[in-house]
Amino acid sequence: MEEKPEKLIVNGKRLDGREPGELRPLKIQAGVLKRADGSAYVELGGNKILAAVYGPREFHPRHLQQPTTATLRCRYNMAPFSVSDERKRPGPSRRSIEISKVTREALEPVVFLEQYPRAVIDVFIEVLQADAGTRTAGITAASVAMADGGIPMRDLVASVAVGKVDGTIVLDLNKYEDQYGEADMPIAMLPRKKEISLMQMDGNFTPEEFRQAIELAILGCEKIYEAQREALEKKYSANLGGE
Ligand code: ADP
Repeated sequence: MEEKPEKLIVNGKRLDGREPGELRPLKIQAGVLKRADGSAYVELGGNKILAAVYGPREFHPRHLQQPTTATLRCRYNMAPFSVSDERKRPGPSRRSIEISKVTREALEPVVFLEQYPRAVIDVFIEVLQADAGTRTAGITAASVAMADGGIPMRDLVASVAVGKVDGTIVLDLNKYEDQYGEADMPIAMLPRKKEISLMQMDGNFTPEEFRQAIELAILGCEKIYEAQREALEKKYSANLGGE
């Protein structure tokens, strides 16, 4: 493990040169996989994440089918080569099972699941390279992939973490900040309604810090939402152009 840096904020700036309220460089691409019904690729700083969506399709085994609604199934997975040290073993871990569950809960409110009784929609999130904030970037990617796949949705879901480092509230923590900061709070938001569908917390905030952190997370999600829409518009206009 890297050594703890003495300070995470120097002259008001973070170690990677960002302002407290600044996102890492963000790139979103929709429709990157041929064989999935919908897909998206997200880069956020050092994170590289692919999301693939299949369905709605018949749910097997049939006894798992829900008679009045479709089932949303999410699988978050970290590739063994996605992190620098050897702590990552291939296959599901307690952490990836938890993240798969909160991802499903973050996405479910936007999908018109009741339109497809008995069906299943599968969402696969593959972390190719990790640098903190993978669950939130995975949710961001998955909602673009679902929209790309034409799944009827009320809204997208935009997601980012906020936290506290050296007593300052910051947006989109990198690995150092996640590891050595005082708090980390992943948030997912339905941007049009400003509803929150994921909130987790590691560490603690005072009530005033919590208020500031939520405000910053909302601003961050709005920027992410813009990039999500641009990615979908770009894919859509390329298709109209006959690509
Ligand atoms: P998130 O990626 O959503 O921030 P965590 O807070 O659990 O989730 O993890 C923070 C970061 O720690 C990850 O993005 C990744 O860079 C690193 N990490 C997580 N699990 C492992 C692991 N098993 N081995 C090495 N690094 C890991």
